[in-house]
Amino acid sequence: MLTEFHIGIDDTDSRLAGCTTYTAALLFQELISRGFKPLDFPWLVRLNPNIPWKTRGNGALSLHFSLEDGRLEEVEKIAVATVEHTTDLNQRETDPAVVFLKGLIPNSLREFSARALHDILSVREASQIAMDAGAEAHLLKGSRGLVGALASVGADFDHDHTFEIIAYRTPENIGTTRRVNHDSVRQMDAIFRRLTFNNIDPETGRVLICPHGPDPVLLGVRGEDPASVTNAFNQLEINEPIESIIIFKTNQGTNAHLSCHRRIEALRPYQSTVITGRVSGAPRIVRGGHVIFKTGDETGAVDCAAYRATGSVRETALQLAPGDSVTVSGGIRLQPLGELTLNVEKLELTRVVDMVRLENPSCSNCGIKCESMGKGQGFRCRKCKARLPRASRVEKIEHRKIALGVYIPPPRAHRHLTKPSSRDGIRRPISFEIDRANIDRTLESLASISTAS
Ligand code: ATP
Repeated sequence: MLTEFHIGIDDTDSRLAGCTTYTAALLFQELISRGFKPLDFPWLVRLNPNIPWKTRGNGALSLHFSLEDGRLEEVEKIAVATVEHTTDLNQRETDPAVVFLKGLIPNSLREFSARALHDILSVREASQIAMDAGAEAHLLKGSRGLVGALASVGADFDHDHTFEIIAYRTPENIGTTRRVNHDSVRQMDAIFRRLTFNNIDPETGRVLICPHGPDPVLLGVRGEDPASVTNAFNQLEINEPIESIIIFKTNQGTNAHLSCHRRIEALRPYQSTVITGRVSGAPRIVRGGHVIFKTGDETGAVDCAAYRATGSVRETALQLAPGDSVTVSGGIRLQPLGELTLNVEKLELTRVVDMVRLENPSCSNCGIKCESMGKGQGFRCRKCKARLPRASRVEKIEHRKIALGVYIPPPRAHRHLTKPSSRDGIRRPISFEIDRANIDRTLESLASISTAS
C-alpha cells in the first residue's frame, strides 16, 4: 500500500563547510534515482531569521514522497547515511537532525511550524510534538536540530511560495572564487526580472545570486515557478563545472516571518514581529549612522532601529515625527543593559501628523517680520520699533516631505524571507501546485542541464 512519507532535515552545516540544502539535494536525487516518487519539489523552509544560533539563513529542508509501506526502512537508512556523509560532526555548532513522518501532516505540526517562523521554540516542545504526531527523530549529536527538522515538515506554502534553482560546485572548487559571468547575470535579470527576483541589487549593480562563503552552493536563482528559474538559469554563463542542480519550493521572498502582530508588552528577545503604534519621540542618529525612533502603543514603548544598510527605511525613519502612525516589522534584539530594540525590516507609515512651527509675527504697520527681543521676551519691528507680546507668535503648518506607504530595505540588505517589492501583487500560478507531470518534466530538464555542463 502507498503512503505519504515526509523527511525533515536540519543543521548539517557549519560556517566552515556544508549546506543543509546540499544534503537534501543529494538525498532527493538518490531517492529519485532509486525510483521513488516525489509528491512535490523538495522544500527549503526558512525559519525565524532572528534566532542567534543560526549558521546563516536559518534554512531547514523537507522531502515528501509517496512510498510502499515495505520500503520505509530502506528510505530511512538512505536518509540517515546521506546526512552522516555530508556532515562534519566535529564542528561545535552542528547538531544534525532527521525526522521521519508517515501519513498526513497533523495540525499540531503545522502550528508548530508556523510559530517557528517568528518565535523561539524549545527542543523539549519539539520532542513532545514529534511524539504526539508519531514522528521518528534521529539526532546525530546534540538535539537542537530537531526544532528545524520538524518545523520544515509542517510548513504551509498554501498562501504564497516561490522557487529557487541551486547549482552546486564540484569539491575541488569549493572555497575558490565563483566563476559566473556577471554580465550574463545582468542580461538574465533584464529578461526575467518579472519572473525572478533579487538577481542584482539595482542601486549598486551587485550580483546577488552567488553566495560568498566556502559552502558548496555555486549560485541560486529565485523566482515564481520552476520553468522560469530553469530558463533564467540557462541564460547564465558559468565557467566552472557543476556537480548537480536542483529546484526547491520555498517560502523565501514571502515575508512569512512577519505575520505575527504583538503588543509591545508581549515582545521577547529574538522574536520576529509586527507592532502597530505611534512614534513617541523624535528620531535620533547613533554611531554608525543608524536611526533610532521610539514607537509606543497602549501597553508600552520600544526603540526601533533602522540600520544604515536599510536605505529608504532609514531615510524615512529619520523624517518621522512624534504622533505619526506606523506599523513596524522586524526582529527583537536584547541590548547589553536588558532593554529590547526592534531592528526594522519593514516600515509602514499609515498617517502623518501636521508639524507646527512657531514663527515671529509680522508688524501690523510695516508688514515686515519682527525680531525677537531675547529669550522669553516679546518682539519688536526693526523699522517702526512697534512692540508685540510673546504670545503673538504665529503657528505655521510645515509641509511634511514624507510619503505614506511601505518601505523595505534594498535587495542587497534583504533577508531570505523578505518579500521584495517586485513581488507585490503577484498571484500564484495555481495550476502549478503539486502537479506530478510538472515535477517529472522539471526533473528531466534538470538532468539534461547537468549532463550538458
Ligand atoms: P544554513 O542556512 O546555512 O543551512 P542555518 O542558518 O539554517 O544554516 P543551522 O545550522 O540550521 O543554521 O542552525 C539553526 C538551528 O536553529 C537549528 O538547530 C534549528 O533546529 C534551530 N532553530 C530553527 N528555528 C528555530 C526556532 N524558531 N526556535 C528555536 N530553534 C530554532
